[in-house]
Amino acid sequence: MIKKLKHNIFKEISEVADQMNMETYVIGGYVRDIFLKRRSKDIDIVTIGNGIELAKNVAAKLKNKPKVNYFKNFGTAMFKHKNLEIEFVGARKESYQRNSRKPIVENGTLEDDQNRRDFTINALALGLNNSNFGRLVDPFNGMEDLKNKIIRTPLDPNITFSDDPLRMMRAIRFSTQLNFEIHADTFRAIAQNRDRIKIISAERVIDEINKIMLSEKPSVGFKQMEETGLLKIIFPELLKLKGVEKIKGIGHKDNFYHTLEVLDRIAPNTNNLWLRWSALLHDIAKPATKKFIEGQGWTFHAHNYIGVKMIPGIFKRMKLPLNEKMKYVQKMVLLHMRPIVLSEDVVTDSAVRRLLFEAGDDIDDLMTLCEADITSKNAEKVKRYMRNFIVVREKLKEIEEKDAIRNFEPPVKGELIMETFALKPCKEVGIIKDAIKDAILDGEIHNDFDEAFRFMLQKGEELGLKKVT
Ligand code: ATP
Repeated sequence: MIKKLKHNIFKEISEVADQMNMETYVIGGYVRDIFLKRRSKDIDIVTIGNGIELAKNVAAKLKNKPKVNYFKNFGTAMFKHKNLEIEFVGARKESYQRNSRKPIVENGTLEDDQNRRDFTINALALGLNNSNFGRLVDPFNGMEDLKNKIIRTPLDPNITFSDDPLRMMRAIRFSTQLNFEIHADTFRAIAQNRDRIKIISAERVIDEINKIMLSEKPSVGFKQMEETGLLKIIFPELLKLKGVEKIKGIGHKDNFYHTLEVLDRIAPNTNNLWLRWSALLHDIAKPATKKFIEGQGWTFHAHNYIGVKMIPGIFKRMKLPLNEKMKYVQKMVLLHMRPIVLSEDVVTDSAVRRLLFEAGDDIDDLMTLCEADITSKNAEKVKRYMRNFIVVREKLKEIEEKDAIRNFEPPVKGELIMETFALKPCKEVGIIKDAIKDAILDGEIHNDFDEAFRFMLQKGEELGLKKVT
């Protein structure tokens, strides 16, 4: 066990704690991660007494004398040391009132402090004083739960979750990140306390959702949110995707499970959170656009366009960024069917150029999304699509090398058109500009100034304009 605390900082803390005669432990996530062999940069130190004083004395003893930031009101202090963030706090006892997740805090014992922890695996502590250096204090059998991969609250889960409902999201997040099972009683208590999530700020909830999104298999968390009823409160649009309707014996796929499969399929290929969000939202407007048409079956006409329109509302409510990251997600959702359509048809140069033009630098991400979107049970079909995507990717590369369409800027700009024909800004300028763009994308002319200029003159003539310069 002592080997586990091999970082020198623990020796330093130990010496200072002994000098100050303060019982001190390393506790929580850092200890859990030692046993899980996960790397962790946040160290939580708990001491029976004044955490700020301990932090100051430890920092003063270190060679580089790190600056200690402390919050007197909370009794916490922290400093950075090498690549670690070390937080010190006096052991405390917490009691909660019903309408707030802000507890009443008193000084307490190690046991009190362990009681206020969210899960048994997060309540492990290792002694840091010389007399008990590296000795495990595990009052709730957290080691057993670590071994059996179980998330369980140390006390009655109904109290733990009602006290601080964020813990419900944390349970699901840890279960997803660590591939742990949530214990049945704990799981049931989440379902029972789900409405309490409403007192938690959207910022905190989205932090947990984003951690779920970035896990190896994000579907786990979303399924748990669905089963406990949290999803309905937090993300009703996603829940609406669930279910299969049948008319005249014809059903459609369950778009909730399809979406989660796409998310899981994209996960190994990207750690870009926003590309993962694009996967989660790509079919979000399917329920709103669903129609059964005689002879055609189920259609979801324009679900990509409607999806784009839904995104700002979802991002705003969930406190996701309303900036270029959202625009990127909108672009992915808008274009998500395009490579599939391309791959079904004979791939023409002009269709490829248009796709490159619209996707720009995000074309590779779009292809990654499309490949993840193929979730048919028919293995032959999946294989065929994947083969076609290889052709589309090759074609994209070939056309890009030849025509440089990605981040395309028309070689003849509006000003030059106006100058050439002595025009003020008017409809004709737009018509000529579009005609040049289309001619390049359709391969009638090259992406080249001279060709575009000649084409502009010809177009102007057709419109009855006179060249003046
Ligand atoms: P991660 O770093 O992946 O978020 P972590 O467990 O280290 O995981 P922190 O949020 O840094 O998470 O919390 C550190 C420790 O503080 C936890 O291990 C747990 O003991 C305790 N803790 C954090 N949040 C809560 C909470 N809402 N309720 C009870 N205990 C909590």
